[in-house]
Amino acid sequence: MKIPFSPPYIDEAVINEVVDSLRSGWITSGPKVKSLEEEIKTFSGAKEVLCVNSWTSGAIMMLRWLGVKEGDEVIVPAYTYSATALAVLHAGAKPVMVDSGKNFNISVEAIRNAITPRTKAIIPVDIAGFPCDYDQIMSMVQEPKIRGLFQVTSAVQKKLGRILVMNDAAHSLGAFYSKKQRTGCETDIAIFSLHAVKNVTTAEGGAICLNLPEPFNNEDLYKELRMTSLNCQTKDAFSKSKAGGWRYDIVGMGMKINMADVNAAIGLAQIREYPSLLKERKRVFETYDKAFTACDWAITPPSIDGEKESSYHIYALRIKDFTEELRDRMIDEIAKSEVAVNVHFIPMPMLSFFKSLGYDIKNYPQAYENFKGEISLPIYPQLNNEQLDFIIRTVKSAYNTIARDSIF
Ligand SMILES: *Cc1c(COP(=O)(O)O)cnc(C)c1O
Repeated sequence: MKIPFSPPYIDEAVINEVVDSLRSGWITSGPKVKSLEEEIKTFSGAKEVLCVNSWTSGAIMMLRWLGVKEGDEVIVPAYTYSATALAVLHAGAKPVMVDSGKNFNISVEAIRNAITPRTKAIIPVDIAGFPCDYDQIMSMVQEPKIRGLFQVTSAVQKKLGRILVMNDAAHSLGAFYSKKQRTGCETDIAIFSLHAVKNVTTAEGGAICLNLPEPFNNEDLYKELRMTSLNCQTKDAFSKSKAGGWRYDIVGMGMKINMADVNAAIGLAQIREYPSLLKERKRVFETYDKAFTACDWAITPPSIDGEKESSYHIYALRIKDFTEELRDRMIDEIAKSEVAVNVHFIPMPMLSFFKSLGYDIKNYPQAYENFKGEISLPIYPQLNNEQLDFIIRTVKSAYNTIARDSIF
């Protein structure tokens, strides 16, 4: 039985919404993008939401807006997808990598130890869709001692007066960080990814949630950033296309990272169905949990802790006491049954580019520990019980094969 890892969720509603955009005569940024922004705003409780063409480009734009410069530091976890750190480098600052906890998420103590007068932002990552400890992180950046360290070098930094918290919520659209509140409004800025493999997708895309404190005005900021995402052009193509609306100005050096309506249409249809799709993801997650908590060799991933609840984006199974090599062999064994699995994530300090910059995995023991026995299982609404049984049987028998063949 062939099981793909993460096919997109495309039903008739999605197709109809895309066709509607195609037939409308307007395919780039316009009414569909606006509707998607409104849907995400209502869903997440964020004050304002701006859609762009990827998480990565959105993060670069926000760090540039913050005014980071060479020598400035942005704290990120070593255990994440590389975009988190690459965005920092593109914006001209230095990613300061810190270790994670056993639950995969960035360690709050490690963040505290990494703060210096050059720290301008922290980018925690909701790994697999499980929210970080935002109460702790947000109160930490407001401690008088930490505020006192903060060195202002831009107008935005002066207005904020402290370290910015911008979470990488690429995985966590739909997660709860408190009983009634979903992710998207727990930090100054949260960015969702709408990439093809994410829970809600626009093929490629990102959604920037703005929740800046007073004296910022999020509505004004939305307008400013929307323009920045369109080359800092005072009129978008939609308004310019109207008769007599031709004149515009360029008021700064913007980026060209707007989302197109054809893309937004996919996400628009998906987010309307998302509450029921989330339930299906949870069903898959719980089926795995039930099967693997019974195995003494398996470590099941976090899903609910107090008021926090995952968006069930990745099922990050870990095999106890396995070395990297045994884990890799187990994946090869699983692949023989045509079940596609993955590893989330190879810690950045293990990748060539980051090694060449001097990062060393030895400094991130928990990140390595989380990685070495990790296998991500397929998780998406379309998986039925028969497929799930097959995946579970395949994983268990692959473990038995590898464990039997090796003394460890
Ligand atoms: C997918 C992902 C990103 C990048 O998202 P894009 O929309 O592809 O730029 C960033 N961070 C994490 C943790 C991701 O998984």
